[in-house]
Amino acid sequence: MGYDQYKKEVLETSLWLSDHGYFGSLRGTGGNVSLRIEGKELMAVTPSSVKYHEIAPDDICIVDLSGAVVEGSRAPSVEVGMHAAVYRERPDVNAVVHTHQTYGSVFALLNEPIPSLLDEVSFTLGESIEVVPYALSGSAELAANVAGKLGNNANAYIIQNHGILAFGKNMDKALLAAELLEKVAHIYYLALSTGKPVTLLPDQIREMAKSLREYEVGEARKRAAKQ
Ligand code: 13P
Ligand code: ZN
Repeated sequence: MGYDQYKKEVLETSLWLSDHGYFGSLRGTGGNVSLRIEGKELMAVTPSSVKYHEIAPDDICIVDLSGAVVEGSRAPSVEVGMHAAVYRERPDVNAVVHTHQTYGSVFALLNEPIPSLLDEVSFTLGESIEVVPYALSGSAELAANVAGKLGNNANAYIIQNHGILAFGKNMDKALLAAELLEKVAHIYYLALSTGKPVTLLPDQIREMAKSLREYEVGEARKRAAKQ
């Protein structure tokens, strides 16, 4: 069938994230990647618990938005429900990465959102990087908790006591979102550790970031309604 390009992109992204330390360990499988299949209620997603460097293109699973496997012999990621929740709620999103990256995970443990600190980050990720409340990895409750947060139109979230979720209109943007989140989490952590007050972006810039995200999601909703 014609899913080879999607599988290749999911695999290449997983290897990039693994090689750059985003999954938190090289020997484990701390994270997962998916890509929406254009025009269909399907996604290509990494298999569960297979080391990234041992995944072959055909190990990437094609599943529907209820998590049922349409193509592939491996079990899909336990987090398919979380990925599907994003595709269902957010027509602007076509690629999702979930990682256990280090600095993003600092705020997952602190249970603290990352506010508007840099315009470059806030315009891309959203006015605030909110924390999704904890639920067991792979549970329907975690997917529901993610769905409950998507209404602020952000492209990145922290998952309490777990890791992060980043996405975008294509895989490159989803990777950029994961990178920007790690960068802002790192420098926010360093700034906080000085004990000096951290300055936020002015209200006007925060409003701009909010409006920009609202606009992009709104436009995608209009396009989806026409189809
Ligand atoms: P999978 O290997 O099933 O994708 O699970 C990894 C993970 O990060 C669970 O949250
Ligand atoms: Zn995880």
